[in-house]
Amino acid sequence: MLSALLTPDWAPGTTVAHLPLQRLLDRPEGPIRALVLDVDRTLLPRRGVDLPASAEQWLRHAASLMPLHLLSNNPSRQRIGRVAQHLGVPFTAAAAKPRAGALRRVLADLDLPPHQVALVGDRVFTDILAGNRLGLFTVLVRPIAADGEPCPHDHIQTFEVRMSRWLGAQVEA
Ligand SMILES: [Mg+2]
Repeated sequence: MLSALLTPDWAPGTTVAHLPLQRLLDRPEGPIRALVLDVDRTLLPRRGVDLPASAEQWLRHAASLMPLHLLSNNPSRQRIGRVAQHLGVPFTAAAAKPRAGALRRVLADLDLPPHQVALVGDRVFTDILAGNRLGLFTVLVRPIAADGEPCPHDHIQTFEVRMSRWLGAQVEA
């Protein structure tokens, strides 16, 4: 069902900078053991090239606990690679989410069952759909602004959430 594929497993209503990591470790279904992260508007603000300080702090803490992989639809290997290199984590650009190919390769590299991997992103029709198609634990975060707080003008997410609800998805964000 499309509506189930568009429903994130968790929509905490925060940006990634305030996503409570402990909740991912303490799940009754077992801990999340790796994170696949969208980049544009999830880690980087729309026109920004630098990580908000609070997001960087969150990412460094997360990276100390488990492997991370940056998975972006952005074709710019320079933009995505710069962030990945700064954090010292692997990345995939031009991932073509919601198509599953690139994400499938990431899962193979991680060598973990999909349900133990969380996909964190700001877009329902690319990030959440791709993650749900392959059975990952999907987390919809608010688009981030330069100060690490939710971007006040996230028209795309507002539109997508409205559209996915219309299609029957249960999105709280
Ligand atoms: Mg994004």
